[in-house]
Amino acid sequence: MRLHAFDIRALRAQMDRRFAVTFMLIVFAALAVIVTSIVLTALDRVASYANHLDEERSRETLVGAIETFKHQLGATLNDYAAWDDAADYIYVRRDADWVVRNFGDMTFESDLFDVAILLDAQGVASMAYSDGAPIEGPLTGYLTPDVTGLLETVQTMPEGEMPQALGFTKTAKGIGAAGVALIRLKSGDVTVDADQRAYLIFMRHLSTDTVNRIGQAYVLPGLALSEVDPAISHRVDILSPTQATLGALGWDLRAPGDVSRAQVRWLVTSAVVLIGFYCVMLFVVGTKEVRRLRGDEAAAIKLSRTDRLSGLANREGLFSALAQSVEDARGSGEDVVLLYLDLDGFKEVNDAYGHGTGDRLIRGVAAGLQMLVGEDALLARVGGDEFAIALSGKDAQARAIALSDAILQFFGEPLTVGERVVVIGCSIGLSASPAGSVDGEEIIRRADMAMYSSKEGGRGRWTVYDPAMDEERESRNQLELDLREAIQHGEITVVYQPVVSSQHFELVSVEALARWHRRGHGPVSPDVFIPIAEASGLIDQLGMSVLRQALEQLRNWPDLRLSVNVSPGQFRDPAFVARVQAVFRETGIEPSRTVLEMTESYFIQSPERARSALERLRQIGLRIALDDFGSGFSSVGYLRQFGFDRMKIDRSMVLALEEGHRAIETLQATVALARSLDIPVTAEGVETEQQAVMLRLAGCDELQGYLFGRPCSAEEIEILRHKSMEPRARAAEQAFYAQAGKRGKA
Ligand code: C2E
Ligand code: CA
Ligand code: CA
Repeated sequence: MRLHAFDIRALRAQMDRRFAVTFMLIVFAALAVIVTSIVLTALDRVASYANHLDEERSRETLVGAIETFKHQLGATLNDYAAWDDAADYIYVRRDADWVVRNFGDMTFESDLFDVAILLDAQGVASMAYSDGAPIEGPLTGYLTPDVTGLLETVQTMPEGEMPQALGFTKTAKGIGAAGVALIRLKSGDVTVDADQRAYLIFMRHLSTDTVNRIGQAYVLPGLALSEVDPAISHRVDILSPTQATLGALGWDLRAPGDVSRAQVRWLVTSAVVLIGFYCVMLFVVGTKEVRRLRGDEAAAIKLSRTDRLSGLANREGLFSALAQSVEDARGSGEDVVLLYLDLDGFKEVNDAYGHGTGDRLIRGVAAGLQMLVGEDALLARVGGDEFAIALSGKDAQARAIALSDAILQFFGEPLTVGERVVVIGCSIGLSASPAGSVDGEEIIRRADMAMYSSKEGGRGRWTVYDPAMDEERESRNQLELDLREAIQHGEITVVYQPVVSSQHFELVSVEALARWHRRGHGPVSPDVFIPIAEASGLIDQLGMSVLRQALEQLRNWPDLRLSVNVSPGQFRDPAFVARVQAVFRETGIEPSRTVLEMTESYFIQSPERARSALERLRQIGLRIALDDFGSGFSSVGYLRQFGFDRMKIDRSMVLALEEGHRAIETLQATVALARSLDIPVTAEGVETEQQAVMLRLAGCDELQGYLFGRPCSAEEIEILRHKSMEPRARAAEQAFYAQAGKRGKA
């Protein structure tokens, strides 16, 4: 089962290429997407990191600003409270006007504090001013728990520490920093008792103005007071001394990362667009290429399943179609039947008229078969001159047989090829796969086997596969094994058949013939084992063994010549001529005493090689006879073309002499032609005296046949050598003329 290895390799390469292209496309596209997203992610990270950095820095600045705001108030408060004048006016002179002038009035449009309250040791306010005016009504909106807390801190502060406390609080005016300090001398000394002490409270509120100024000073755009919103991170909470959240200062994020990103946005966008375009192009080109490759692949599959010469399916096409049919048949329960056809005599046409004619003949046969087969069966050309037809359906077996008959009838007519008319035949084998029970390869094998059976049965017929054929094949294989063994063990023996002169019937030569007594089976005919030896290549050893044995024997018969048969297959061995020469040298036989007999098939098959082989054999001194003339194609042309040294007329021509004048004339003409070319003629298969005399009269100079002796052992030849056949020759002549006379009278 040869597959079209080349086509399959091409197909596989095709598929590999498609896979590679798809793979590359995917890799390129994936790479582009990955690189793009890496770059975009990196940009994003840079941007958000820059944003984050900026936010943190702003937060730290704002925290510092709030601290500074509080400490500025603390510094101012310290200046006013630790003041010798203040201690004097408050504790000693108790001048309320001075207090208003120096504290209360100062709250008007001040950058330092906007509320000033003076408390005595009992926490009662002696003065309370806000924005340059006295605070009307109760002071509870200002003296918040935070402030009273600060007051307590200052009051309970241990000796030696600065009697001042700061913190944020939420008053009637809003959120602000508040400070409480003991009125004292600049030196820090307090000249009055604890219950006489006074405390100065300053407040500075985070008014919109103030916040704006802080925002400008610290570069915090959009700085503003707000409620605490946990969703917004860009804020700093303002905490009371008890850590309660009073509110928050928030600012507008500058997001420098976003700004930078905005700066490069068009670059990134164009890069993404370009990559997108690249991917689209890749996709477009890729799909196109993949589609093209898929097309190529489909075409390659189709091509790999098509026979180039006939345009029919080839062996591979048959395999795949048959596999499908069997699969379908399993489902439907229908039958699949295969016809395997081998043309008879195609090789001869090809050899005789050339390959051009052979090709045309194949095409003609393909067309003819296609007509007979029709549309609903598959016709395939599966080899040089082999065809197959696959049918399926309920009635497939009946149709197959009808089709086989039609095909044989088709080949019954001569075919016209160009200007030539040729006659070829066809041997058919059939095998069935009922309900798909036999798989495709097995159907082919069986049909092939049945076809061989048709060939062996005489060609031009159809045969249905029978399991017995497998057994036959098996026994043939066994025969081959046994033959191989027999050759190796020297069990092939040689017998000799006498060849006599036609004039006096005296022994002039012997033909060596191979014999095989198969162990456990008995004698096997050369007509059986020689073809097997030829087919299996054993003929080389077998032929050499026969030649050696015969030449060794010939040393004992110096008065005789020898004929040895040579099969065409033996010429396949390039050393054949050299080996033959070596055997002659070793046995010391003069090559001119020997004739090699060959059939014409080799000369038809490869005339050029045959000519050069003959040339070399002749150079050694050997003679060559054309064997079995008249049994096959038999062209006198070959006689002239190759210049044989002898011609042997086949037994069938001798037998035909019985049929009368036409056969006699044919024989006479043939012998006359050979003689005109100076080629002597031997007649084979001479069984009657009648034949012997007729052949002599026709011009044959030597005769061979049962009349003179069957193939026999060397010992028997020894006896014959010393026995004259002359009397027998005379008797034969007399008998012949007596017969002729009788016929003449009648
Ligand atoms: P062949 O070369 O034509 O040999 C002649 C065959 O005709 C022999 O058959 C022989 O026994 C038979 N024969 C001779 N005279 C008569 C006759 O009067 N009547 C009948 N009916 N037959 C006769 P065999 O020995 O069976 O050989 C058959 C063929 O086998 C030979 O045909 C030859 O082609 C082949 N063969 C035999 N030995 C060898 C060999 O050593 N080498 C090769 N290559 N082929 C061989
Ligand atoms: Ca012969
Ligand atoms: Ca012969």
